[in-house]
Amino acid sequence: MQKPWGGESSAVDLFFKSRPFSLFLMHIQAETVFYDLNLNKIKLNRVHMVFINHVLQTHQIDLFMKKYLLFFIGIFICTISANSQSKNGFKIIPLGVKGGLDESNLSAYLVAASDSNQFICLDAGTIYKGLELAAENKLFTTSDPSLIQQKHINSYFISHAHLDHTAGLIMNSPNDKAKNLYGLASVLDVFKKNYFTWSAWANFGSEGEAPILKKYSYQPLLPKVEISVDQTGLFVTPFVLSHVNPYESTAFLVRNQNSYLLYLGDTGADDIEQSRQLAQLWQTIAPLIQKNQLKAIFIEVSFDNSIPTKSLFGHLTPKLFMEEMTKLNQLSNGSLKNTSLYVTHLKPCNGCEFKIQNEIKTANQIGLKIHYPSQASSIVLN
Ligand SMILES: [Zn+2]
Ligand SMILES: [Zn+2]
Repeated sequence: MQKPWGGESSAVDLFFKSRPFSLFLMHIQAETVFYDLNLNKIKLNRVHMVFINHVLQTHQIDLFMKKYLLFFIGIFICTISANSQSKNGFKIIPLGVKGGLDESNLSAYLVAASDSNQFICLDAGTIYKGLELAAENKLFTTSDPSLIQQKHINSYFISHAHLDHTAGLIMNSPNDKAKNLYGLASVLDVFKKNYFTWSAWANFGSEGEAPILKKYSYQPLLPKVEISVDQTGLFVTPFVLSHVNPYESTAFLVRNQNSYLLYLGDTGADDIEQSRQLAQLWQTIAPLIQKNQLKAIFIEVSFDNSIPTKSLFGHLTPKLFMEEMTKLNQLSNGSLKNTSLYVTHLKPCNGCEFKIQNEIKTANQIGLKIHYPSQASSIVLN
């Protein structure tokens, strides 16, 4: 009987019969890594491949059946691998990454557990444009940004109330669904007293000027106290940062099972801020870095090294960033290079971003893994 794809002598058949294919199965050393549609990392290692080969070699099965067996065994192993290896990882979709000017690309990061499509939104400078681009990149099945916002953003965690971290949330509030808005009490106060007032905007908050529309339920966070976020599988611990002392910003330590991700809102360096906030944060996370549990740090570098200290307004430069990372690396016994560092919040000006990246590259003598997130381009951490 004639078989699909051209019978015994087709190129496909010859490939499966060939010695190079058999050797490939027997001697593959490196893991084969690819991603499924949910951005889960899937690995086929040597054990998987040898098992497949063993089945094919030891059973005198018709070549036609062998091909089907190979296919189904492969799918089965992929499923097991995806479930066992990526459950405690994260997927991140930056909705905006810059620190100013371009209102279509300001700090906002969607974070979900690897096996979930319920995201928390860390800061909310840009929402609509980021979701529109994410939909164009096929990161969601729905193309309408408002529908994605309603359906996939579970809640917001705001590091501080500056507009480059809040404007997207405020502007898109009329189309959003009811959900929680988390922040330190000092951050939520600005929403209550300055934004969700009837003079600046409608009161979509759960407290403040009447009538109270109660779309966003204010959830005050206590420093260093972990909370669980319903329906996401995630846990979040806030840490106070200094952003022109005594103005408070926040770092969020996000946990999925025993894996962590740290996101810092705007922050100055301890020496300049006359503060110990970063030093205390580094003390807390250093053990996680040593145990390889901290998958990534998202941290700001707003200005290049030429900006004088008096004009930093609670931000980092490449020099200050690298000084802080050097302290953290020492506390972690030199293991910080195992954690991915995502540099965020670059303030655009003519040539600034290029200059900042170059200054970081030159200063990175300890071989840290530095990345620059881009808008609507997903990041997978396993
Ligand atoms: Zn900012
Ligand atoms: Zn700020």
